[in-house]
Amino acid sequence: MPIPESRNSKDSPFAWLSDRRQRSKEEIILMIMCALSIPSILPFGLYRLWQGAWLSAVVDLALVLAMSLVIVHVWHTGRYKLASLGVTLFYSAGMLATIYLRGMPLVYWAYPTMIAAFFMLRPRVALGINSVSLLVLVAMLLPQMELLNLLTVVVTISLVNLFAYIFSYRTGLQNRELHIEAERDFLTGAGNRRAFDSKLISYAAERRPQPEACLLLLDLDHFKQVNDQHGHPAGDQVLRRLCDVLRHHTRVTDEIFRYGGEEFAIIANGASLRAAGKLAETLRSAVATAPLLDGHPITASIGVAPMPRGGLASEWLEQADKMLYAAKEGGRNMVRLAGAMEERQ
Ligand code: GH3
Ligand code: MG
Ligand code: MG
Repeated sequence: MPIPESRNSKDSPFAWLSDRRQRSKEEIILMIMCALSIPSILPFGLYRLWQGAWLSAVVDLALVLAMSLVIVHVWHTGRYKLASLGVTLFYSAGMLATIYLRGMPLVYWAYPTMIAAFFMLRPRVALGINSVSLLVLVAMLLPQMELLNLLTVVVTISLVNLFAYIFSYRTGLQNRELHIEAERDFLTGAGNRRAFDSKLISYAAERRPQPEACLLLLDLDHFKQVNDQHGHPAGDQVLRRLCDVLRHHTRVTDEIFRYGGEEFAIIANGASLRAAGKLAETLRSAVATAPLLDGHPITASIGVAPMPRGGLASEWLEQADKMLYAAKEGGRNMVRLAGAMEERQ
């Protein structure tokens, strides 16, 4: 394991971790929807302004302004949840106001507006907002439409909502399943490297103060010998059993990842350095005494680092990696803690 020489995060081999602040799909969808709505609404607003239909023009231009502000807000803060709800409510109110002001021919706007809600919100929330909009729409159109025509509007809008709900619900379910699979290590069932990286990045990207957490990096000692002497399948079996041992001795709030071949990362959420040191010692001794492989004692070295206050994810990983290296250098089958505290076997 290479020991990083420099504490300068730019020179660190882990520096890429802190640089990659990825935008979520939800953020991107919201910004695209808002961006698309601007050229769709702006020409109508300008046309009505030119016609002197002031109230309609104000509604359209207010929608355009609101969409522009949302794009700026989400771009800068990355917060999209409340903005998505706000945009949907604003869109729906704008659509109802337009139909109220311009009359029944504008009812076609109800369809794209309601479908857009399913792109931005959870299916149940979108359906709830659209149902309320439909009730308001019926109350508005009742005096100006024939009953049969109104019934057609209600049935077609209801069907569009039903199909959008089913599609959105099913897609969400598939996405969640795919997400779980994409972030799981198939051999051990632990989180994989991808899950670990995005977890660390999300810690770094979080702006609110966070509860303390510690990172444990655990690497099996002389694992190559296990493969050489017992074969690769036996090595795989050891990794699976090791993961069972880790799960058995950690809390449900602790997260276990397979960081590399025979290297595991554990994020002990809410643990002080002292508590994490104890956990590491428990894990070290559990691994050393567990029957991972018949007739071949297996041990692990563990490096522990507390989450740096306001620091970078890359620094956190670098610290834990240094401690792991120190544990290897110190003779293996031992725990090393960042800072003054050290435990030696
Ligand atoms: P050290 O104490 O310094 O960590 O020595 P080591 O032998 O554990 O470390 P080294 O990096 O030299 O070897 C790691 C070995 O882990 C080599 C590789 O074959 C094995 N390994 C990595 N992934 C897997 C896997 O998925 N299954 C099995 N069976 N072995 C693996
Ligand atoms: Mg090893
Ligand atoms: Mg290793």
